[in-house]
Amino acid sequence: MLVVMKAQATPEQIQAVCEHIEQLGFRAHPLPGAQRTAIGITGNKGEVDRGNLESLSGVAEVIRVSKAYKLASRDVKEEDTVIQFPGTDAAIGGSNLAIVAGPCSIESRDQAFTIAEQVASSGAQFFRGGAFKPRTSPYAFQGLGLEALQIMAEIRDRYGLRIVTEAIDNESLALVAEWADVIQIGARNMQNFSLLKRAGRLRKPVLLKRGLSATLEEFLMAAEYVMSEGNYEVILCERGVRTFTDHSRNTLDLSIIPAVHHLSHLPILVDPSHATGKRESVLPMARAAVASGADGILVEVHHQPDKALSDGPQSIYPNQFATMMDEIQQIAPVVGRNLPRGIHATAVAG
Ligand code: PEP
Ligand code: MN
Repeated sequence: MLVVMKAQATPEQIQAVCEHIEQLGFRAHPLPGAQRTAIGITGNKGEVDRGNLESLSGVAEVIRVSKAYKLASRDVKEEDTVIQFPGTDAAIGGSNLAIVAGPCSIESRDQAFTIAEQVASSGAQFFRGGAFKPRTSPYAFQGLGLEALQIMAEIRDRYGLRIVTEAIDNESLALVAEWADVIQIGARNMQNFSLLKRAGRLRKPVLLKRGLSATLEEFLMAAEYVMSEGNYEVILCERGVRTFTDHSRNTLDLSIIPAVHHLSHLPILVDPSHATGKRESVLPMARAAVASGADGILVEVHHQPDKALSDGPQSIYPNQFATMMDEIQQIAPVVGRNLPRGIHATAVAG
């Protein structure tokens, strides 16, 4: 159910409706929009008594939301979600493209700083790097853990880049939430519902990667798990799905982008690195992603990919990253977008 407040409804009226919903034993999710606030109701198995709600002051109407995902749906929130990063001009969603770049794994301080310096000088606003790695083999490099988080925090201090890194379980989630700006939940954890719920209790943006064989509905339901706990800052990421293809690691499903934009207000990034697994395919797919309406790109960059401890073959060189930025900057205006170059400090609203 969705309670649509009148355009002139006061904060007190919105608060009173939320309290009423909570007293009925449900959860209220106030979702401010450009014109008016809507309040999503979750936790109800059947119908909520709408008569009661319709008579509260400030309420315009009560609508039944039939989709399985509600808070992620455009039915509940019409405007695109734009996630801001306080103290900076960076955002994910909206007209500016967001670029997240960095190595698959943080391998050493030197490696991370070398790459960060280069992606920052090409104008990335976000730095990625795995501290906790979900590897297919238990014998493969598992990540530097806390040490990697500390290195990335230093990189944020030095270059201003906001940090995106993956949490793979409850333990790493607590650490990642403490050190990073965006919590990545990987493809293999897209349906780890207890992890999604825990991430939903945090107040940090969550970058949710599509599962290896997840449908669009399953993907949006995973986002709904996070949002249902009150964390509305979810960024989707298409990273390719498993198919019969033998020319690339996965198949990049760009057709999910317009489908997501149609059904959901959440931003969606594209990861051409894990989608293709091949360095030479990364730039063409990054261009296609922007042309398809993606809200940004997440890409693996390494200065010595031959020596990388994970995902070297799909990591592009820093100079290729610079080319990617120049190319997508040219494509962006064709699809009504802009590529900001670099991240700048702004005054934090007090
Ligand atoms: C990653 O981004 O390094 C990663 C492990 O991605 P995915 O979860 O999409 O495989
Ligand atoms: Mn990787």
